[in-house]
Amino acid sequence: MVTVTFDRVRKLFGEMVAIPGLDLTIDSGEFVSLLGPSGCGKTTTLRMLAGLEQPSGGRILIGDREVNNLAPGERDIAMVFQSYALYPHMTVAQNIAYPLRKRGVPRAQRPAMVKAAADLLQLGPLLDRKPRQLSGGQQQRVALGRALVREPKVFLLDEPLSNLDAKLRAHMRAELIELHRRLGKTMVYVTHDQLEAMTMSGRIAVMQGGVLQQFATPAEIYHRPANAFVAGFIGTPSMTLADGEIAAVDGNPVLKLGSLLLDLPVEHLDARPADGRRVTIGVRPEDIVIGSGAARGHVRLVEPTGHESIVLIKAGNVDFTVRVPGDTLIAAGETIPFDLRRDRIHVFDRDSGVRLN
Ligand code: ATP
Repeated sequence: MVTVTFDRVRKLFGEMVAIPGLDLTIDSGEFVSLLGPSGCGKTTTLRMLAGLEQPSGGRILIGDREVNNLAPGERDIAMVFQSYALYPHMTVAQNIAYPLRKRGVPRAQRPAMVKAAADLLQLGPLLDRKPRQLSGGQQQRVALGRALVREPKVFLLDEPLSNLDAKLRAHMRAELIELHRRLGKTMVYVTHDQLEAMTMSGRIAVMQGGVLQQFATPAEIYHRPANAFVAGFIGTPSMTLADGEIAAVDGNPVLKLGSLLLDLPVEHLDARPADGRRVTIGVRPEDIVIGSGAARGHVRLVEPTGHESIVLIKAGNVDFTVRVPGDTLIAAGETIPFDLRRDRIHVFDRDSGVRLN
């Protein structure tokens, strides 16, 4: 069992509180992404796990062993960085063997271990090449090979694909998923790229301001964001978030969004909101239907991307972002009816941002 546990972990840089108190348990064999905007603390979290940064408080456990006071080399982890820094004068085989050499693995055992790692990553035919004779993706695979040759218990990956072009990134995503499936090791992956996190992770830890916002499967994070921050951060284009309030019309609770009145499915709310409660509502671009409905809006912008178009519709004081099929006949300047799928509306408390439904 190689769980990874952060138990009330704090990190201060001087006076600055980077991580006020992190509780997070990663299951054995799980692929978890730490995802969030720049400066949210994901790299600091990973570096503390790696032993490259000392926590200011709390405990970090790998399995049931507290590692706070262990040097990086004693933690049974391997880390792959964004800049994979292969040794240019060494061959692929020598690069992969390097950690074995450094750790004093007997020379006779090394070739078999290098071969096993190279086979896993399909680097066999490239073993005699120098890094400059490799593509970016191949170099990244060598960096992975160097990490996994020691058979660590936990893999830490810090934006390992960000130096690759879009096509290669997509390819390497698939390779990493496959590698994780075959190795079954615990992997912790830092990224600010939500597509990477969504496609590869069993669960995603969304962070903001050093604080864990939600730790859940990609589907849960997409369909039931825990708060308005996660709602706005996840999804491309972002969901529309708009201030509204709950009002009673003829005794029935309705959601007021500026001049728009919607009947709100209040039965789904945790607490039946009182009249006048200030909320933020969120609706994803694909959960807005155009062509019919009670609301009317002004089409401000149509952005065709091919198979779909992103349309900006202004209604009242809200700009709704809407996803429509690419062949939809719609043009800027029109006024059109539209509706929100009631069962897909996300409702958050306007002050705390916490989800209410
Ligand atoms: P990015 O995606 O930009 O790498 P991140 O989410 O990984 O961001 P961190 O690098 O963990 O963020 O930084 C978290 C906060 O801690 C930031 O406000 C950053 O400025 C600060 N920080 C990080 N390292 C140091 C340091 N060595 N000294 C002082 N402040 C630091």
